[in-house]
Order: sequence, then C-alpha cells, then structure tokens
Amino acid sequence: MAPYLSCFSPTCGSRYGLSEIVYSCGDCGSLLEVVNSFDDADPRQLKSLWQRRRTSLAPLDVSGVWRFREMLPFVTDTARIVTLPEGNTPLFDAPRAAQYAGLAGLQFKHQGYNPTASFKDNGMTAGVTQAAILGMRRVACVSTGNTSASLAAYAAASGMQAVIFLPAGNIAYGKLAQALEYGALTIQVEANFDQILGLVLELAAELGIYLLNSVNPFRIEGQKSIVIEMLEQRGWRVPDWIVLPGGNLGNISALGKGLRELHAAGLIDSLPRVAVVQAAGSAPFERLFREGGVLRAVRRPETLATAIRIGDPVSWRKAESEVKELSGVVESVTEQEIADAKAVIGRCGIGSEPASAATLAGIRKLVRAGTIEPDADVSAILTGHLLKDPDYVYRYHSGQLKTPSDEPIQSTFGNAPVTVPNDRAEIEELLLRSADQ
Ligand SMILES: *Cc1c(COP(=O)(O)O)cnc(C)c1O
Repeated sequence: MAPYLSCFSPTCGSRYGLSEIVYSCGDCGSLLEVVNSFDDADPRQLKSLWQRRRTSLAPLDVSGVWRFREMLPFVTDTARIVTLPEGNTPLFDAPRAAQYAGLAGLQFKHQGYNPTASFKDNGMTAGVTQAAILGMRRVACVSTGNTSASLAAYAAASGMQAVIFLPAGNIAYGKLAQALEYGALTIQVEANFDQILGLVLELAAELGIYLLNSVNPFRIEGQKSIVIEMLEQRGWRVPDWIVLPGGNLGNISALGKGLRELHAAGLIDSLPRVAVVQAAGSAPFERLFREGGVLRAVRRPETLATAIRIGDPVSWRKAESEVKELSGVVESVTEQEIADAKAVIGRCGIGSEPASAATLAGIRKLVRAGTIEPDADVSAILTGHLLKDPDYVYRYHSGQLKTPSDEPIQSTFGNAPVTVPNDRAEIEELLLRSADQ
C-alpha cells in the first residue's frame, strides 16, 4: 500500500495525500503522521542490501539516511533527494561514562557527527526533499538553534531559499553563525516562539513557503534512520534501553515510530525500553508522566541546555504514546547534573552540547534509583556537537558557569587553562608536577 498522511489522533483518523500541504489535521488540529506498510518486507534481504550499499559510492548509498530508503517510501523519485550526506554517525563505547553512571558498559550514538553537527540533519534531508518534491522554492522555520542551522544548509544545497525566524534574544552563537554562513534570510522578531509561529503559519500559506518546523511529518521519517543505523551497527541486537534528551519531543516520536516499523518489518524481534530526559527547569513532559492527565506547559522554561528549553512541546501526544508503547520512563535532571555529565562525556574524548549530556545525567539517576540495572545494555543518543556552545564549555571549566537563576554551578570536573610567565624553570616544574595527574 502506498504511504499516506494520517491524523495521529486515534479518534479522528482523517487522511491526506502526500502531496497536500498540511501541517496539522484540518478536522481536529492534531499532528500528522506518514503511514507506511512494511507487510511485504523481506528482513534478510533488506539487511544484506543495506550492508552492500556501504561499499557503494552512489550519493544516496553514501547517506546514512537514504541507504535505508526502503523505510522511507514516501520518496518515489529519488532524483529529488537532497543529501549532504548525513548520518553515518559513530557508535562509541564509553567506559568512563559508564563508570560515572554506575553501569558495566554504555554506548553513545553521536548525532553531532552530522554535516551541521546535530541530529536535525537526519530529519531535514527528508523534509527538504519533500519540499523539492512539492516544487517549493522557499522553506522556513521558527527556531533558535540547530533546526535553523540544518534548514539553512539543506536549502542552500538544493538551491531553495531558507527563511529563519528567531525569537529575539537567547541565541547560541555557533548555531546562528551557521545559518548566516549558509545564506539563510534570518529575521529576528520581537515576540515569543508561539506568537511568531502563528504569524508564520499564516504568511507561509499566503506566500507559498513550505514550513519545516519539528511537527513536519517528513522530518520524522528522516529521523527514524538514527535508530535504524544504531541497530545495524549493533548487528541488530536490541539494547535493553535507549536514552535521549527531550525538548519538543520530535526525536522520541521518531525513535518510537522507527522501532515500531522495524518490528513490523521483522528486522528486530524485540523492543527496547526508552528513557526521555528533560532539564528540570523545562520538564513539562516529565511532570505529565508523574502527574498524569494532559500536558501542562511550563510558562517560563529555563535551562542552559537551550536545545531543550521548551515549555510547551508540540509533539507531546505522539511522544506520550511512543513512550508508553515502549514501557518507557521520563526523568529530569538539574543544571549541575547536566554540566558534570557533559564534562565526563568530554573526558571520554567524545564531547557533546549541553542538551545531549542530559542523557548521561539521567542514566546515572535511573541507575541509582534501580530503574536501570547496572549490567543493562544501554545506548544513549548524543544529539549535538561540543562546539555548538563553546561559551558554556569555557565558563564551566573556568568556574564561571551560572544557572539561569544565577546560582553558581560547581566545576566538579573543571579544567581551567594555566597562565605562567615566560620562565623555563617554572614551566618545567609545572610539567613535572602535573605528570601523574
Ligand atoms: C532539537 C534538539 C534536541 C531536542 O529534540 P526534540 O526532538 O525537540 O525533543 C535535543 N538536543 C539537541 C542538540 C537538539 O538540537
């Protein structure tokens, strides 16, 4: 059966064609999902096909998203695909981080090794490809960070114009720098995220601009490839736990959908549990799981992990359904816990941006609580690269990092630079003293 768009609400179920430009259900306002059928899949044949493509030099086979294109059947004309190429990210063993968390072993799937250095590229290649299929000339998003960096790059690569709307203030310079360099029209608006989104939705329809915010169902299709590639790298051995940070909750929605589809296609025969970790100052999803009911937004979300500073996550219903399906848990961690976990990931020679480090902080907490067994097989997704936010890094190591409410953050694993005079003897003495540290 050919893929189609369906309303995610089980009580509505309205359907839309793939070529319709709709961002939410016209009948009930819920999010949309691409529905695929993998009933005829031959899992052994797919696994060997994907493995053979690893030796191919064809651009689509070189991509860690489109190498798995049988799982993204919404693209029928592969000449339309826009790839940089993305994916092919490493899966690291991190013994030092495992020890910190109280685990025997721990793996990191590092999505910061993407062309624009975050997991958003896995989704954006699919979203911009859909824009190309629709014949759009302009694409837009409202974002303060990695989404805009990624959109700007893929639009530039495809010859489309990217328009990025930024809420005034709160911009990590690494990310803004990318959007500017890739040539996006960057518009700062003196309004908050929701106000801007409302405006942009109206203007997009009027001016024929395709919106690629995280609710876009085609971005979710691309993001499924993260878990597909992870499982392939593990020889299709399903871990006990997959852990990831949660902001707008598109990533957990994609992870759940990817796992459901791999299972339906017979590529895996069991499912992992999942843990979503939020920053304590922006944890509406964690509160939802603690208190039940419907999601209550956090009015003034605060965290230095700006990629997950989201008070009203748009994909919460999808995410809730996926987490429940996978017997998952939702945890929250403090600014201090994120900062220390991030430094530990750095000491592994890996590094990540703050939001990604919420995973290790959360795992440590869940092991201590007895939720994750010390000998469990755990894989965590690092969502963005260390260099996205160098200011944070320098402040932590030099003892100047403060929480959004101005509380000092301890540099538990601080590594400040040392200043010395131009004096051979003094430098030699310093080197001798530090040799056994
Ligand atoms: C976007 C982003 C997140 C949050 O992902 P959601 O899909 O919004 O939950 C986490 N970390 C980084 C680095 C991101 O860019």
